[in-house]
Amino acid sequence: MATNDYESGLKMMEELTTDAQQIQDQLLGEILSKNAETEYLQGFLHGQTDKQLFKKKVPIVTYEHLKPYIDRIANGEASSDILLVEPLTGFSLSSGTSGGLPKLVPTTAESAHKTATFNKLYRSVMIKHFGDINQAGKRMELMFAKPEVETPSGLKASAVSTRAFKGSSFKAILPKLYTSPFEIIFCPDTKQSMYCQILFGLIQRNEVVMIGSIFASTVVRSIKFLENNWKELCSNIKTGQISEWITDSGCRNAASLILKPNPELADLIEDVCSCKSWEGIIRKLWPKTKYIGTVCTGAMLQYTAELEFYCGGLPLVSGFYACSEGAIGINLEPLCKPSDVSYTFLPNMVYYEFLSIKEDCDTDSQNQVQLNAMSHHEDTGPVDLVNVKLGQCYEVLVTSSMGLYRYKVGDIIKVTGFHNNTPQFQFVGRQNVALGVDMERTSEADILKAVAEAKALLDPLGLILTEYTSYGDTSSTPGHYVIFWEIKPKEGNNNNGKELDPKVMEECCSKMEDSLHFTYRMYRKENMIAALEIRVVKQGTFESLLDYFVSKGASLSQYKTPICIKSKEALNILDSRVIAKFFSPRTPTQDN
Ligand code: AMP
Repeated sequence: MATNDYESGLKMMEELTTDAQQIQDQLLGEILSKNAETEYLQGFLHGQTDKQLFKKKVPIVTYEHLKPYIDRIANGEASSDILLVEPLTGFSLSSGTSGGLPKLVPTTAESAHKTATFNKLYRSVMIKHFGDINQAGKRMELMFAKPEVETPSGLKASAVSTRAFKGSSFKAILPKLYTSPFEIIFCPDTKQSMYCQILFGLIQRNEVVMIGSIFASTVVRSIKFLENNWKELCSNIKTGQISEWITDSGCRNAASLILKPNPELADLIEDVCSCKSWEGIIRKLWPKTKYIGTVCTGAMLQYTAELEFYCGGLPLVSGFYACSEGAIGINLEPLCKPSDVSYTFLPNMVYYEFLSIKEDCDTDSQNQVQLNAMSHHEDTGPVDLVNVKLGQCYEVLVTSSMGLYRYKVGDIIKVTGFHNNTPQFQFVGRQNVALGVDMERTSEADILKAVAEAKALLDPLGLILTEYTSYGDTSSTPGHYVIFWEIKPKEGNNNNGKELDPKVMEECCSKMEDSLHFTYRMYRKENMIAALEIRVVKQGTFESLLDYFVSKGASLSQYKTPICIKSKEALNILDSRVIAKFFSPRTPTQDN
């Protein structure tokens, strides 16, 4: 980016954040007047485009409400009659799930244009703080493309990141600015891809000025992968031969172009990796790195301690907040600690509204916002971007040129300040998520369903599941789901005291995994989540859990075992009473 380009980006940022209200109103006006004749808006506005009428008549919806309209477009009906006038270029596959499948969000030429503007603004902020790293060297970004899905309409659906990797402008800059070549990013086997991306990063270690991935969990997983495979990687570098198990032809071809016998480099890496502690390993292996660029907020905060250990003081930069529904916010202070990150929402991306959360969020000792379990909306209607209140938590609604109107993204955020007239938000969490060890989101209903299916396997053994709860364990990488089960024999059955059949218990673990949603199963297959574990606790454990919660102020008459455990003390109560542990022995089936 030329200097004047970056300066114009910063100037644009100032203008946008100063004129936020006007830009938002103008954007809403454009969206409504363009799409007033669509079936969806006609039904509420009868061709009118007035903002107040829009707020009065158009309902606040979740994906489920829009799904029938989006499905019709995906099945081949003309989108211009249904949700939006602009022709679709495809769909984004969101990592959220609907009925067990990723959500489809329409994409258009206009949305691509907005993404380009967002990227320009983001780059300008980064250049302001780190200089133009494109001039300094290469980025070792771990990137994994996901396969595209063709909808019956012929339009392709793909993850936003995959679409970005496929873009011609990205392809053009890739060899010069990134260590990973195209073929490796698109290798369908994530293990081979990960191995090769690390190999390429090591070979080009002296050129690497930035390390990252979209989410922090991937960076941590890569370092763990390196920890387990550095000897083999060094041997490849020493001999100039890639391991036999790398069978993907794209990976092998790409490797053949860069891999030459280099015993000196191999010895050096071996030296670094064989040291006792891996503290600061990133800095030692890639000495010119200026920062780690990866989202560390929200569900990713749980990975920051580990990442900090590995990166030896390098800044962890959570640069932006974005979703399939739109690129939304930029962190204007990229050097601040992950726990202090706030995103400034860009008024020219989508039209925002904010539903306030009645039960306010609390802040814990590490300045992290904790969403209260009982949060719900106030009776008052949603407010505009410039009218949010400092310190208040809100649920985000977007109206966009992609056919989303007053659409709940599902994220809860807290207002932490303002840049000019535009609010800045801390990411608090997802609405309606009980478990999440990576970017997947599992609701209470998902857990309930999975447990219901698995517990049926206990029946022939004369056992019943009396109580259960769950926990997202990220103490090792990848994280995994732990389900605590209290089991007792059926009345009159003399099975009491008999050992639990490990085969059946393992099958219960697998059954739960098979019953969980698409994203969970996909993440499991790609080893982004480890095997689900059932920890059987001794009888009376859930009584003790109840006593604990009552001692903390819960009402006994209204007490309900939490479906997911968040508190350390509660976890300790459960863990200290575990009598057996079982793990799912296989990856879940993909076909439900
Ligand atoms: P997707 O649905 O796959 O597009 O994922 C978008 C979701 O990822 C958002 O709705 C957030 O829940 C989460 N997300 C994206 N960016 C951030 C961020 N900077 N911090 C925390 N969570 C994020």
